[in-house]
Amino acid sequence: MPSDLHGGLLAAPGGGDPFDRHLFACAIAVAFDGSGEPLTRGLGLSPEDLAALIGRYFPHSPGLLSGLSRRDDPLAPEEPDLRALLLDFRTHGLLEEVWLAHIIARRSLGSNHLWQDLGLTGRDDLSRLMRRHFLGLAELNHRDMKWKKFFYRELCQREGVVICKSPNCEVCTDAALCFGAEDGPSLLTDTALSQTRQCSGSSAKIS
Ligand code: SF4
Repeated sequence: MPSDLHGGLLAAPGGGDPFDRHLFACAIAVAFDGSGEPLTRGLGLSPEDLAALIGRYFPHSPGLLSGLSRRDDPLAPEEPDLRALLLDFRTHGLLEEVWLAHIIARRSLGSNHLWQDLGLTGRDDLSRLMRRHFLGLAELNHRDMKWKKFFYRELCQREGVVICKSPNCEVCTDAALCFGAEDGPSLLTDTALSQTRQCSGSSAKIS
């Protein structure tokens, strides 16, 4: 993590919803992957959106905004569609849901389970995020398909593209790929994880 995080990622008392603060703290922590890439790139947020997020949830950590380019990073080809899918199902119309749609679309480009690439503590956190902020979409995943598989299948269906090998999941040879367990360790170290959990509290600090 960069030195500004060692100075402390502090959450403002009462600064936003605690679960949302936990989500953002996890994503920020995992986006600092040691590659030296700016936080905007890791999160898929514009500098303006990142500044608004930090201002609302971690106003005592302005160092997170240092060294950012004023330009937006280029998007991967699938990002606009995945953002749009999520935004179509915003539960509350909150700005947080816009930020989360961007973060989810960017972190979905990773090679791990989505909950891992979001830095979350487990798949349950991602399911809770979806039910809380994108309820209509979460309800479409009533069979509890793997989240990334589900998103891309939804996108394909919107485009009229058939990616399924079978019209029926029960007899499909890809069932294990679509519905298998999304187990695994958190990508955050135990230390970072405990710090991130603290960050979701009222006087939190990372490092
Ligand atoms: S199990 Fe087969 S039919 Fe079901 S969603 Fe996956 S690919 Fe499609």
